[in-house]
Amino acid sequence: MSITIPFDNTYANLPEGFFAKALPTPVKTPNLIAFNADLAKLLGINVSDLNGAADVFSGNQIAENAAPIAQLYAGHQFGSFNPQLGDGRAHLLGEVVGSDGVRRDIQLKGSGQTPFSRAGDGRAWMGPVLREYVISEAMHALGIPTTRALAAVSTGETIYRDGAMPGAILTRVASSHLRVGTFQVFAHRGLIDQLKTLTDYAIARHHPDADGPMGLLRAVCQKQADLIAAWMSVGFIHGVMNTDNCTISGETIDYGPCAFMDAYHEARVYSSIDQMGRYAFGNQPRVIVWNMAQFATALIQQCDDKEAAVEEATEIVHAMPGQIEAAWLARFGRKIGLAQATDADQTLIEDLLALMQQDGADFTNTFNALSGEAPSAQFLDQDRFAAWSAQWNARLAEEVDPLAVMRGANPQIIPRNHQIEKMIAAAVAADMVPFERLQEALAQPFDVSAEFADLQRPPTDDEIVPATFCGT
Ligand code: AMP
Ligand code: MG
Repeated sequence: MSITIPFDNTYANLPEGFFAKALPTPVKTPNLIAFNADLAKLLGINVSDLNGAADVFSGNQIAENAAPIAQLYAGHQFGSFNPQLGDGRAHLLGEVVGSDGVRRDIQLKGSGQTPFSRAGDGRAWMGPVLREYVISEAMHALGIPTTRALAAVSTGETIYRDGAMPGAILTRVASSHLRVGTFQVFAHRGLIDQLKTLTDYAIARHHPDADGPMGLLRAVCQKQADLIAAWMSVGFIHGVMNTDNCTISGETIDYGPCAFMDAYHEARVYSSIDQMGRYAFGNQPRVIVWNMAQFATALIQQCDDKEAAVEEATEIVHAMPGQIEAAWLARFGRKIGLAQATDADQTLIEDLLALMQQDGADFTNTFNALSGEAPSAQFLDQDRFAAWSAQWNARLAEEVDPLAVMRGANPQIIPRNHQIEKMIAAAVAADMVPFERLQEALAQPFDVSAEFADLQRPPTDDEIVPATFCGT
């Protein structure tokens, strides 16, 4: 075996109850279809020879010093509490400390059943695997905290979703897989010692400056506030912000029915399972506060003075809408060229969004056009745009270099749904060219090469993908 991974595990050394030891189930004919050499280097993985990589990243061969486990967690799914979820189709192989000093998990997803599989088959098919690969790496290139993709392997097996699909396994890298749901499971069971151990572990690993459970809550709330504002600034809709998909690190996790918006609408929903729009674009700031309230509730269980803890947690969670608004204002301000937007600029931004919504303007291309020659071409209502533009230009007169500010804040390319769907259809037919091309284009989102102009174009009416499916 020529792949060596410098494992240095900590979670697997925690006392019993945090995970189940579980081995991946071998697959028929593993074949490496994608490998992220840059990320591998960061992780200190020797990649001089990729022979044997398919075996390691399918779980057919357990890499030396790996300690495969399935992590236990619970979670609120669409608002209802599920007391036990856990990794039902993922195996945490172990952790590595990268050349940047950051400790990260290396996890296989789609690697077979575990004690937490419930009725699931433990598998994933190629569509969602490549979707997560491309979108998570695009998110990283956008500078937004996210889990990453190290490898994708086709398994040579058929799995059944809406029909027979080719199986695949993703190797996901995360600064950890701790989630709100990890705390909820122990709080719900009244396992206070474990809750305390977990709290100490999370503080040491992610928020070393945090003072106790309430300090951890404060740190995670700030990270999540920043994350939601960052998502919104690129038109991202997560689609399934359940508490088990909400990380303690503040990284984006679980690219299920997510989507980057084409035409702007505040209430945009893509997920086929989100009938009520709970996770609609504009609802994300409210949902994250709800999730953090659940986190607070779990953390409080370990505090001796519950009354004081409730009071402090309430203050922390209630501060979140203001934090999100501030982060949102800073980011959207930069999108229209304001280096430091103030409250007085809020209306200017909201007026533009209202006009974009009225005209069904493309989110990414419209913000991009603002620093170009013909922004008005993005709008139908020319009078209303001219009126907005006059106000905007008056405000820009106070700025030093608004063009540079806009160029640094507005990606020129995002992973559009219709391109993702085309990429998956091609990959299923063994054509990996669209996958490679999408990745290359998305790697430089603020400075895209002219050869990728077709990928910047919004979908035509018959290309529009109305819904994304969780059928993962
Ligand atoms: P997700 O929607 O990916 O966040 O998954 C929610 C829960 O369902 C997690 O506990 C997953 O491990 C589990 N799960 C999803 N798909 C499967 C599957 N095919 N087999 C077993 N468990 C699954
Ligand atoms: Mg999940």
